[in-house]
Amino acid sequence: MELSISNLTKSYRHKKALDGFSLTLGEGVYGILGPNGAGKSTLINSLTGIIKPDSGSISFSGKSGGDYLSHLGFLPQNQDFYHNFTARELILYMMKLKDFKCPDPKGYADEILKKVNLYDDRNKKIGAHSGGMKQRLGIAQAIIGEPEVLIFDEPTAGLDPKERIRFRNVISSLANDKIVILATHIVTDIAFIAKTVVLMDKGKIIRTGTQGELCAELYDKVWELDTDYDTVMRLMKESRVSNVLGIDDYYRVRVIDDSRPDDAVNVQPNLEDVCIFHFGEM
Ligand code: ADP
Repeated sequence: MELSISNLTKSYRHKKALDGFSLTLGEGVYGILGPNGAGKSTLINSLTGIIKPDSGSISFSGKSGGDYLSHLGFLPQNQDFYHNFTARELILYMMKLKDFKCPDPKGYADEILKKVNLYDDRNKKIGAHSGGMKQRLGIAQAIIGEPEVLIFDEPTAGLDPKERIRFRNVISSLANDKIVILATHIVTDIAFIAKTVVLMDKGKIIRTGTQGELCAELYDKVWELDTDYDTVMRLMKESRVSNVLGIDDYYRVRVIDDSRPDDAVNVQPNLEDVCIFHFGEM
């Protein structure tokens, strides 16, 4: 199983939203991480056939065009469903739209709802669902027919921390034998579940690797020190600061720099540091 993205380019007037984007994906969860405007949505819209790139190609195990799209499940950004439908009615409706046939549609819909922990709420109207439940219902409709490629665009926008964790757990449980692509600007969305992280900016890949590989590039570059307000301000001007924590009457600052700031100790780099290092602010 292989999803091959080759040299995708898409321009809006003079702006290149995608600039020769190439990536080959196998089984596992991929986190596409980049600041706003990096080109993530343009990439996702190209992968899902919503827009046509100016040039380049996409193929899944040798199939392209409509043949490839039938292997795809998609959770768009900001989707909304009919509020008067119940969770189960929506899944049955989506099965019809997708022309997915099976001997026991209700039983199948229930199985799908179990996978996203919505079975107990199957008869609840969507209007009464929380944001997290709606997102999980979005995942449920995406996995109808067991597509091998699953794509999620900014999936945790607007969710509270507890629902984010739940969402991540559901994604992890579904990821076996699939290619899962999560596009986000939120580091924690992918920090625990992405096998491969793809850092993207200005329509291009900046870096790709496992989280361990990307973090290893920052060994001996991440520092922490406890200091006063003036020093925090100076460090923010002179270096890349990835975190500032106010503690009583002092500040604990996390700094990315080639050389050790005075009084700082070396700390283990994390994915947040990697993003600050490559993108500045996210
Ligand atoms: P992201 O999803 O990472 O925030 P986008 O793919 O939405 O990035 O946008 C990439 C770049 O392309 C941005 O500079 C954005 O302003 C531009 N862009 C995206 N869609 C359009 C459009 N329909 N018309 C004009 N410019 C667009």
